[in-house]
Amino acid sequence: MSYSLNEKIKELTPYTPVSGNYPIRLDANESFFTPPPEILEEFKQAVAEVSFNRYPDPYARTLCKKFAEFYGINPKCVTAGNGSDELISVLFSAFVQKGDRILVTAPDFSMYKFYAHLAECHPIVYAKNEDFSINFESLAATANRDNAKMIILSNPCNPTSVGFDMDQIRRLLISTDTLVVLDEAYMDFYDQSMLAKADRYPNLIVLRTCSKAIGMAALRLGFAVANETLTHAIQSVKSPYNVNALSQAVGSVLLGHPEFLRGAIEKIKQSRDDLYHMMVRLQNEYVGRIRVIKPDTNFVMVWMENAGSIYNSLLDDGIVVRNIGEFLRITAGTPEENEAVVKALSGYLSGGGF
Ligand SMILES: *Cc1c(COP(=O)(O)O)cnc(C)c1O
Repeated sequence: MSYSLNEKIKELTPYTPVSGNYPIRLDANESFFTPPPEILEEFKQAVAEVSFNRYPDPYARTLCKKFAEFYGINPKCVTAGNGSDELISVLFSAFVQKGDRILVTAPDFSMYKFYAHLAECHPIVYAKNEDFSINFESLAATANRDNAKMIILSNPCNPTSVGFDMDQIRRLLISTDTLVVLDEAYMDFYDQSMLAKADRYPNLIVLRTCSKAIGMAALRLGFAVANETLTHAIQSVKSPYNVNALSQAVGSVLLGHPEFLRGAIEKIKQSRDDLYHMMVRLQNEYVGRIRVIKPDTNFVMVWMENAGSIYNSLLDDGIVVRNIGEFLRITAGTPEENEAVVKALSGYLSGGGF
């Protein structure tokens, strides 16, 4: 006898982000802010009060209430997850069955296809326009024609950094009965959120995360927001104690500091704009060799000649970004980090040799 792995996982390999000692990490769209000492003190207090021998609140009620207060929504519509990544996996378990068709757009967040694969469903890929826009009526028509069980997309999009208007999303929602999962991981940097309207639609689930604008990637906190029927279904499928007590406690404290969070978000947007403008200057100087997409998130997506070898040269300079095909995806960092990456890119462009 010999054990053999399932067909569907045979070819999979563990997720491995770049490891090593790189002084400048602009590859994961994290925040460059950490909380000030006063808030860190409150974290310590909250951690000291955790009952370590007890299971956490399965519905993370205090945390969901704080999240709902911060965004001005109804806490009854909120489910917390161990990162929004876990929630994506839960949504596939809950709303998709083996053999179902689902609809994804391209380019978009790579994890959607990963979870679709594990759920043994068939992703139909809807190609975005050349400028990364989407004709939402045509997207809805595709979902209807192919009888898709779910449409999942990010808004604003990772990796393109392009956002879609609420009007376009609304058009999609009213043109199909298919469940729409709208991943708003970067919506704090844009202003077209459907969060406050999620409970008015029978077929909408909005995902948010604390890993990007909120600056708490270490905690692994994500949220799904939907009407009460969908919320009940999500809560029935998730594992009972999915969010640990430490993350619940610390996350509740942080979401209770809206002034700090809003200030940080404004500064990150400023950094994003500064990085974008510096890149536009390179684009004007080196016409045809670098093309920058106007960002709606906290990162800038650039097409560059020889993106792959430039990525490697940046690594040699101690700078990590993401290389996606012919593009580099660069997280907006501190002013020093932004200047370092632009200086390095400028060096490669002026030196040629690629
Ligand atoms: C980063 C990211 C997530 C994952 O967030 P976690 O809450 O850290 O799991 C989800 N969707 C998109 C589009 C992201 O970029």
